[in-house]
Amino acid sequence: MQDFTQIIGHEGIIKHLQNAILAEKISHAYIFHGEEGMGKKSLALAFAKALQCMDQRGNPCNSCKSCMQTDSGNHPDILWVSHEKASIGVDDIRTQVNADIHVMPYQSPYKIYIIDSADKMTENAQNALLKTIEEPPEYAIVLLLACNIQSLLPTILSRCVTLDLKPIDRKLIKEYLMSKHQIPDYLAEIAADFSGGNVGKAIKYASSDDFETKKEDIFHILRYIDDMELHEIIAGIKTITEDKNSINDYIDLMMLWFRDVLMLKATKDPNLLLFKDEFQIIKKHANTRSYDELENIIRSMEEAKAKLKANVNLDITIELMLLSIKENYNG
Ligand SMILES: [Zn+2]
Repeated sequence: MQDFTQIIGHEGIIKHLQNAILAEKISHAYIFHGEEGMGKKSLALAFAKALQCMDQRGNPCNSCKSCMQTDSGNHPDILWVSHEKASIGVDDIRTQVNADIHVMPYQSPYKIYIIDSADKMTENAQNALLKTIEEPPEYAIVLLLACNIQSLLPTILSRCVTLDLKPIDRKLIKEYLMSKHQIPDYLAEIAADFSGGNVGKAIKYASSDDFETKKEDIFHILRYIDDMELHEIIAGIKTITEDKNSINDYIDLMMLWFRDVLMLKATKDPNLLLFKDEFQIIKKHANTRSYDELENIIRSMEEAKAKLKANVNLDITIELMLLSIKENYNG
């Protein structure tokens, strides 16, 4: 079951969408913009469900035929645009959207097309879609879900209402993990922190065995980093850099580690640490680094994340980052 009340955060967007439904001023094209796990799909689906609901306006009733069909993924007038290749090609848009959109809705007031990973549309695909969203039939609504809005043509952007999903308050995520997913307190705290305001990410971390393994991998290095030679560190992080999809997670974990170091340095209170078990080593790191040095380290990690996003050479980026941990040290 999916509706607006099940979504945590995004109050502004929900209000906007509900107002649009109530005022019957619905745009023909929306972009839900936010990183993976932020809730683009949940929002788009709740919106589509509310638009098609036969009983209620504003929030889906969850019991009419239309709502049931949406929940089971079989609503004839809510259509997910699929693609087989890595990108969404012009043919995908032509056959699934352009050729279909002039067929009236089967049963509902609207015909809703949801294009997930819309930023993967090729330029030709976007131009094909543009023709349709420039002059859509009255009942047609296109929902684009995109992580990277820069990949969309300005002409597309200008035709759509863009909804930017903002990071969700950590406390809300923590409560949500504990109440809905029965995650223990400390792990919920770490996962919420770790998630950067991304619920999907938080759930993934908190519920995966992987999390503990990753944490152990990277903490093992952090515990000994001051006594290791750079080549030893490089060897130690080989598994980490090989796992390209997870590299950001490791950097996030390291950032949380150094945030603990900063916290301990500033407050001397071990109870405020996320990683209380690591108190002894975190204390050592706090004693052997100045505030400036700790800030340099955290900045180097932020830079590493930005570089990875820009596809700069992974190994060199990580080496530079670890080098900064060593350089900013007065042991
Ligand atoms: Zn309903």
